[in-house]
Amino acid sequence: MHRAFLPHTRLWTCCFVVASGSALWLTADADEWISGIVWPEPKIIQPGEKGSPPSDAIVLFDGSDLSAWEGAENWTVENGVAIPKTGGIQTKQGFGDCQLHVEWAAPEEVTGSGQGRGNSGVYLMGKYEVQILDSYDNTTYYDGQCGAIYKQSPPMVNACRPPGEWQTYDIIFEAPRFDDDGDVVKPAAVTVLHNGVVIQNHFELEGATAWDSPPLYEAHAEKLPISLQNHGNPVKFRNIWIREIEPIVGHKPS
Ligand code: MG
Repeated sequence: MHRAFLPHTRLWTCCFVVASGSALWLTADADEWISGIVWPEPKIIQPGEKGSPPSDAIVLFDGSDLSAWEGAENWTVENGVAIPKTGGIQTKQGFGDCQLHVEWAAPEEVTGSGQGRGNSGVYLMGKYEVQILDSYDNTTYYDGQCGAIYKQSPPMVNACRPPGEWQTYDIIFEAPRFDDDGDVVKPAAVTVLHNGVVIQNHFELEGATAWDSPPLYEAHAEKLPISLQNHGNPVKFRNIWIREIEPIVGHKPS
């Protein structure tokens, strides 16, 4: 039993809540406002350290193999690092709303320019690309540079590290919702931290990202695989994990 008494003398209410086999005493001062909403207890998890996965994460790549991915035979895994050879890879599992951590590095040997330098990408639901590009001292169209939601939203700042250095993406994604007619009732939204810096802040996507056509939504499943792009550049990947997320829901007692 958890018992929480506030350090006040004028107590006016006392709630006894039983949830999940545990009991919780709540008391409130006459001056205190309380919402009255009964919340489930947030699950207790162990956070990771320095980018390592929290205890409730699904590990998609820990450096050993790409068994969580389709198309892995077309990539190389060496020394804890995955590198594209031919074709992209996609997760065997589908995901909707999620928090995704990806570590990547543009090739140390700099070749090409613009979109031809260190190009890859994280495709949420296989449709919505967060661009990976070596945008360190390498200009291209802004809504196609590193951290862009491809051809929809440039990053708010360019937080790129030099080629060859490891970089992090921490992506919070809300999948789009469609009604029974296939119309969008809630667009997809994405927040991206690049090397710990917010570069996309709950950007609402206008549809799937494509090189050769404007954004367009087409109704799809609630969960779909995440894919990593092969754009012909040996971008390195390591330490990829994901957490499925859902809002915590309380209720007001009737
Ligand atoms: Mg790309």
